[in-house]
Amino acid sequence: MSLEIKIKRTTAPKAKPDQNSLGFGKYFTDHMFVMDYTEGKGWHDPRIVPYGPLELDPATATLHYGQAIFEGMKSYNTKDGRVLLFRPQKNMERINVTNERMCIPQIDVDFCVEAIKTLVKVDQDWIPSAEGTSLYIRPFIFATDAVLGVHPSHTYKFMVIMSPVGAYYPQGINPINIYVESNYVRAVKGGTGFAKTCGNYAASLRAQADAAKKGYVQVLWLDGVEKKYIEEVGSMNVFFKIDGEVITPSLEGSILPGITRASTIELLKSQGTKVTERRISIQEVFDAHAAGKLDEVFGTGTAAVISPVGELNWNDQKITINDGKIGECSKKVYDTITGIQSGKLDDTFGWTVEVK
Ligand SMILES: *Cc1c(COP(=O)(O)O)cnc(C)c1O
Repeated sequence: MSLEIKIKRTTAPKAKPDQNSLGFGKYFTDHMFVMDYTEGKGWHDPRIVPYGPLELDPATATLHYGQAIFEGMKSYNTKDGRVLLFRPQKNMERINVTNERMCIPQIDVDFCVEAIKTLVKVDQDWIPSAEGTSLYIRPFIFATDAVLGVHPSHTYKFMVIMSPVGAYYPQGINPINIYVESNYVRAVKGGTGFAKTCGNYAASLRAQADAAKKGYVQVLWLDGVEKKYIEEVGSMNVFFKIDGEVITPSLEGSILPGITRASTIELLKSQGTKVTERRISIQEVFDAHAAGKLDEVFGTGTAAVISPVGELNWNDQKITINDGKIGECSKKVYDTITGIQSGKLDDTFGWTVEVK
């Protein structure tokens, strides 16, 4: 795809927010990327325009049937003045896996990476540089046909918006407590668990809100059939270090294949740690804890990179992991991945892409 990206710059740039109170996804940059799809014509009219609201027909398919997908990635300012993206190709490849499941037309991976680089360049002065901050990039696609018949849309919009985000752990890494969900389920084989589609999140909110009332920040999902095997956490994949070995649930169709998950596996293996992808039951984790062999539990995802887990509550049995402190392995993975992302460490894996 060799389309020209038209750029229309804002005439009213916004004031930049304070870098010490960015939070997550509260502020948006001056521009956004938009591209349309029309059946028979393909993706067309890629453009960068001032950030602003959309006008939609009330019958827009997405609002009724949820044919919509998204991605999440980050861009970083390095100390030596470079701008880096972390594995952007992987996000665009994953969009196509999601699109296939959701009957949304495929995108051109290389073109979309270029589009994101172009947008980041246009809003480069929005990338924060305080320790731990980054520019969060949110690509998304939604169905735009304005008809109420249930069928895949014939038209779509691909958009990218960006938000400067704060350090996830301004006070240093704090382990989180997690509620093991044994009533609701997130996904089943044959469903949409492996796809980054909006409906998965809509369906997860009830459990999340109930867990929050009990004082837990996230839920750990079990498999949708037996409620026995561990799947993932809210918007993170999950890892267990048991007796020196790192174990993470294998991807069997109901789990989102995280890019941080893949990077963590590659990194640990390169350091000589034994990493196994297999089914792991919640009982096995509790048994390992009882035997004194559960060394660490941590989540992986773009937002926090690594989230150590300090407590698990499964049907009111509570266990505390590693005295509620970050473990050695979690810390090392966190330091290495964030070091590579922010350009502090040499990228020996070839994960970062420079925006020039
Ligand atoms: C995005 C996401 C993840 C993490 O994926 P990363 O590519 O590591 O950010 C994990 N689980 C779910 C449900 C997700 O949507």
